[in-house]
Parts: sequence; structure tokens; C-alpha cells
Amino acid sequence: MPDIIRLLPDAVANQIAAGEVIQRPASAVKELLENAIDAGAGTVQLIIKDGGRTLIQVVDDGCGMSPVDARMSFERHATSKIKQASDLFEIRTFGFRGEALASIAAIAQVELRTRRHEDEIGTQVIIEGSEVISQEAVQCQAGTSFMIKNLFFNVPARRSFLKSDAVEVRHIYEEFHRVAMVNPDVQFIFHNNGRLVYQLNKSNLRQRIVQLFGAHLNQKIVAVEEKTDVVTITGFTGKPEHTRKVRGEQYLFINGRFVKIPYLQHAIENAYAGMVAQGSYPSYFLYLGVNPAAIDINIHPTKTEVKLLNENVVYSILKAAVRKAIGQFAISGSLDFDAEMAFGTGELKPGEVIRPPVIRVNPDYTPFDSGQPARSARDKRNLDNWDKLYQPSDQPVVTHQAEIALNTAKTGDESHDKGFMQIREAFIATSVKSGMMLIDIAAAYERILFEGYIKKIEKQGIPSQQELFPLNLHFGAAEAAAINQLKPQLKLMGFTLENLSSQTFVIQGIPQGMQSADAREVLDSVIAALINQEDPDENDHRSLMARNLAKAVAKNKIKPMSQDEMRTLVDQLFACEMPSVSPQGKTVLRILSLEQIREFFK
Ligand code: ADP
Ligand code: MG
Repeated sequence: MPDIIRLLPDAVANQIAAGEVIQRPASAVKELLENAIDAGAGTVQLIIKDGGRTLIQVVDDGCGMSPVDARMSFERHATSKIKQASDLFEIRTFGFRGEALASIAAIAQVELRTRRHEDEIGTQVIIEGSEVISQEAVQCQAGTSFMIKNLFFNVPARRSFLKSDAVEVRHIYEEFHRVAMVNPDVQFIFHNNGRLVYQLNKSNLRQRIVQLFGAHLNQKIVAVEEKTDVVTITGFTGKPEHTRKVRGEQYLFINGRFVKIPYLQHAIENAYAGMVAQGSYPSYFLYLGVNPAAIDINIHPTKTEVKLLNENVVYSILKAAVRKAIGQFAISGSLDFDAEMAFGTGELKPGEVIRPPVIRVNPDYTPFDSGQPARSARDKRNLDNWDKLYQPSDQPVVTHQAEIALNTAKTGDESHDKGFMQIREAFIATSVKSGMMLIDIAAAYERILFEGYIKKIEKQGIPSQQELFPLNLHFGAAEAAAINQLKPQLKLMGFTLENLSSQTFVIQGIPQGMQSADAREVLDSVIAALINQEDPDENDHRSLMARNLAKAVAKNKIKPMSQDEMRTLVDQLFACEMPSVSPQGKTVLRILSLEQIREFFK
């Protein structure tokens, strides 16, 4: 029998390899943008036509290339960025090492024009399907321009995999966003089919995010800032009242690279527990910095999935940092201050101090020695410690403001004792040191009730009050099945019920404080939410039940109030762990500063 194994021709081998790196126009855009950034560009232009199929051009004013490098850059494994294997994990992009241009050149018609700043004359290289068509000296501006025409022109199978232009453009936007978001100090200009879609001037991170996602966002995000030995966290996260119904604007970067780590995404969403309604998702733009040695190297370098060796510790720190940021915004007022700063109009008010967050580091903890991804007992202990750092006593701003509020109300003389005013039945107004505090009464009750319920559910359950006239309620088959399954949980919540028939229940007891008229609505919303929940754990159950119950009971509490009643409410509110946001994500209180009040009278 003759030998049958044959080496693939280079062109075919290149095309196959290219398929791994360049799946669609957006992959080429990503590689070219990252190369431009790596070249130290101050301005990067992106031009695309027809979803990137017919044209992708990236022009930068970076370092440029010599004639030899211009030619070399298209060779596989040609890179100026890695000298030894260990560099692989240190470099910024983690991109495919020296393969991007070789891959693009294998499956497109490419024209490169490049000139180093110190050279008089530049170089043009034209290459098609890995074949060099020409190389010559040309006049061109300093920096580099890559023009990619007719992507996949020689790979019809690939071409037919591409989606509509609109879909390909969406992928390109996504890659563009990810690069622009980690390089706010670089100017980006983006044209699609001859139309200018973005001109992003050099700016700070907050402005860049707002430039990309819209001015409305500026009022909706709060800064997150945390520095520990294990991880540094910067960026912004959405206020709880501005969640979205879909997971959309959720960006997590590690060492400048966009990543998807469900475990850490969960940490962020978990930070909102008890503050956002079921099925609502926060927006976030968070940047983590870790020691590159803590990134698991066995993960495919082009993928967005990454594994951190000490993920569970990062989880706790991340969750605590986000929770702290959203817990403080409403009261400190620093959010709106930051927002103004972003546009350069804000000034420090007399006597105002910007206080850096106080981070206490667990002295027992040494960062890089817990190589086990599994949670050891020791890690568990660290996790508890981190959680403890952010108990109420560790929220200086909240406590501080609460004190001011309460002192004004309590320690004053008789005239001060008239410290609270009810506006309609909706709000309480009171004077505080920095101005006037307004409290949304319904939201405050929800917060107080919610935290009370959580505690009760954790202990012996919410007391049930027996119904004098038991209610009969009829449910759909799925709901009835769920109720039967969830009876123990419902009992913890104060509902005692018995089957009358397969789909009819008699409600003998309802949670104390609730009115029987609300039983149906509360049960419906709890059951619906529990049924729809993807992966409920005990905590989700509890907070779901407490949230729905708090909402129903709070609305019955709205009425004209006496001074004492208002004071009690304020006292109870500030005894809460998270006084500033309702369990539904609504703002509970705002402070109108003296400056803002003065504005009214100008
Ligand atoms: P990598 O980026 O992993 O090094 P690429 O194939 O993307 O691999 O690029 C190969 C080399 O070409 C780079 O290492 C760099 O030296 C050079 N290069 C690519 N794009 C540019 C650019 N825009 N400006 C200057 N040099 C570039
Ligand atoms: Mg590259």
C-alpha cells in the first residue's frame, strides 16, 4: 500500500489556522484595534463598509514599522511583543501571539501603509491570500494603516456563515466598545458606510463610558474603587433604581481585557440582592487588576473566558466593593458631584472633603498562595472576614449621616423637636447639617419591613395571623403544583394553607401585618417569581418573599403621621443595613444641599 499522509499546502494550512483567529469581521477589527493601541497610538480611526465584509480599515498614528518589519509582520508567529514564553501571560492583550496579521492576510486582500516617525519614506505592502503582490516605498503619514478588503474572498464556506450586515455590525460595535472602554486616553473615530458613528475624544473613564452609552447614563452610575493586595477594582456600577430588564451593559475587564466569568458576574449581581426587583439586571463597567500570575494559563487565549486562581476571594471583595458603592451613593451625594466633575463644571464646595474609601486588609491573608480553585475551609474563613468588613458599622458615610439626621431630631430643644414635616402622605422632610433630607415614606417602610422579615424568616419565620374567615383561592395547575412544593417556605413567610382540591387552597393564616385583601396578589407574585427563577437558592427565596411582603404591607402603612411616628420611622430606617435603597431598588432618601436650595432663590 502506498503512503497516504501528505502535508497540507501552506495556503490551506494558513486558511485553517486563520479560521481560529478570525471568525468574522469583528475579530479582524479587534485584532487591528489592539495592534494600534499596542503601537502607542493617540488617535485610532476605524472605517467599515457592508458589515466589514468589503472593507475594514484601521488607521493609527502609532510607532509605525520599518520596511523589513512591514513585511515580517504578516509572517506567522512574527511578533515584537514576546521574547520568551513567560511574556505570554504578562502582556496586555492576551491576543493570539503573532498570528493575527498572518491570519487576516490568508483570507483577505490586505494593503498596509506604514511609516515610522523618524523615517522620511514609508512602506506599502499588498498581500492577498498570503501571497505578497507588491512591496514598495511610498509617501504616507506617520503611523500605520491596514486596509482589509473582501474578507474570506477565498473561503466561500466561511463567507456563507456570516450573518446579515446588521448583525456583523453589531459584533463590530461590541469589539469597538470593549477596546474604547479600556483606552479612554486614546481618541477613536469610527465610520460605518461613510457615516460618522463615533468620535470619542480623549477623556477619563466616566466620560468615555457616557460617550459610548449615552448621556443618560451619567446620572445612573456610581464609582467603585477598591484596592487590596489581591485585586484592585475601579469603574462604575449602576444605581439600583436603574436596572434593566435584560443583561446588556455589563462589562467586566481583567488587566485590560474583556472577560466573561459567570462566577464574578454573579458576585456583582449578588451585591444588589434585596435592592432590585426580580428579573432586573444592573449595568456595570468594572475593571479588575490582578497579578498576571493569578490567571490560570490553561485557558484558550482568544476566548473571553478566563479563570482566576483565587476566584473565591475576588468574589467576596468584588461583591463587597459594589455593595458599598451602591449603599453610599444616595446619602453621600458624591455621585452627583462626580457626575458634574466628569464634565468639568463641578467645584469642590467650601469645607467639602473627598474621602478615599477605607479598606481594611485581612492581615491573615496572603494573596497568591491559595492555588486551589476549590473552596478550602481557610478560604471560607477569609470570605466571612471580607463580608464582615462591610457590615453597617463599616459604612462610615451612612452612619455619619444617620447620626447627623438623628441628632438634629433628638438632641434639640423644643423648637428643634418639630424636626419633621410630612409632605402630603408621601414624604418626610427634615433639616440636616448639609441641607434638607427628604425621605420617601413608602420606600422607607419597605426597607424597614424587608430587613425585619429577612431576620424573622432566618429565625423562626414570620408570625402568622389566623384568618377569621378563611379565604379560598383557586390557582392554575402549574401554580398549584408550585404551592404544594413550596408549602414549607410559604409557612416561614406566614402563610398557612391547606388543599381543598388539587387547585384550590384554603388560606388559614396570613403574614402578620398584611391585609387579607392582599393575600392573592402577594402569593401570585411570589409564586410566579419562584417558578420563573432559574437557579433559586435559599437566599433568593428569602429575599423574594420578604420583598413582596414588604411591598404589600408598606402600602397599608401610608397615612398622616405624628412627630413621634415620623421619628420612629427615621430611627428604624437608619438602623437598617441599607437605608438608602428600597428592596425594589427605589431611592429612599435624598439630601438637598444648601447650595442646591440657594440655587432656587437665584
Ligand atoms: P501580535 O500583535 O500578537 O504581535 P500581530 O500579527 O497582530 O501579532 O502583529 C504582528 C506584529 O506586527 C506586531 O508584533 C507588531 O510588531 C507589528 N504591528 C502590527 N500592527 C501594527 C501597528 N498598527 N503599528 C505598528 N506595528 C504593528
Ligand atoms: Mg496583534
